[in-house]
Amino acid sequence: MLNIILMGPPGAGKGTQAKKIIDAFAIPHISTGDMFREAIAKGTPLGLQAKAIIESGGLVSDEITVGLVKERLSQPDCASGYLLDGFPRTIPQAEALKKMGPEIGRPVNLVIDISVPDEELVRRISGRRVCPKCGASYHVTDMKPSKEGICDRCGGELIQRKDDNEASLKVRLENYYSSTAPLIDFYKAEGLYHHFEGTIGHVELFRQIEKTLKEAKQ
Ligand code: ADP
Ligand code: ZN
Repeated sequence: MLNIILMGPPGAGKGTQAKKIIDAFAIPHISTGDMFREAIAKGTPLGLQAKAIIESGGLVSDEITVGLVKERLSQPDCASGYLLDGFPRTIPQAEALKKMGPEIGRPVNLVIDISVPDEELVRRISGRRVCPKCGASYHVTDMKPSKEGICDRCGGELIQRKDDNEASLKVRLENYYSSTAPLIDFYKAEGLYHHFEGTIGHVELFRQIEKTLKEAKQ
């Protein structure tokens, strides 16, 4: 069983690896960032509540986020594995997951952490363009789509995320180091932690992650 947490700072390449992992292992991708963006796009009460926080780079409250994840993880499609991306992001969220996981029959059994130096994160995020239709991401110089501004996968029009600006990114990185990085020691203590260098290229990175996941699945 693969009940996986994918963690790493904004811009580490989680989205790219997440897509490859869910295709290779046929498990659902649970991205809290995507869930919040979807709620914002639909204008649901949750979206209205989260919009300003997310655009400024802040974190949505633990209470709201934990509730959202619990509901999603309880769905039947998560019974044979899942990939959590963007959650947990704080120690209270990790504690809540540690408690709820076994309760709902979905205990985490592996944590993948991708690290990338700050300068590189800033460079990646400031050039990032995303497809709001299918979630694919591109970079203005590193990973250009074949036709400028258009998604290769689905033909959608590429945009820059509202929180991919310098001011919001600064807040996101600060939050990462103060609130999320402590999860590294938390999961090391749980014996679930696996570290990967995010600068080795996305193909080689996936090769290494896939190897770890295949071993864990046996
Ligand atoms: P990133 O590129 O920073 O990894 P995500 O797409 O995962 O971005 O998340 C975007 C935003 O959604 C975050 O900056 C935060 O405002 C909110 N968010 C996502 N997951 C969580 C979480 N687990 N707890 C609190 N806020 C979250
Ligand atoms: Zn697309």
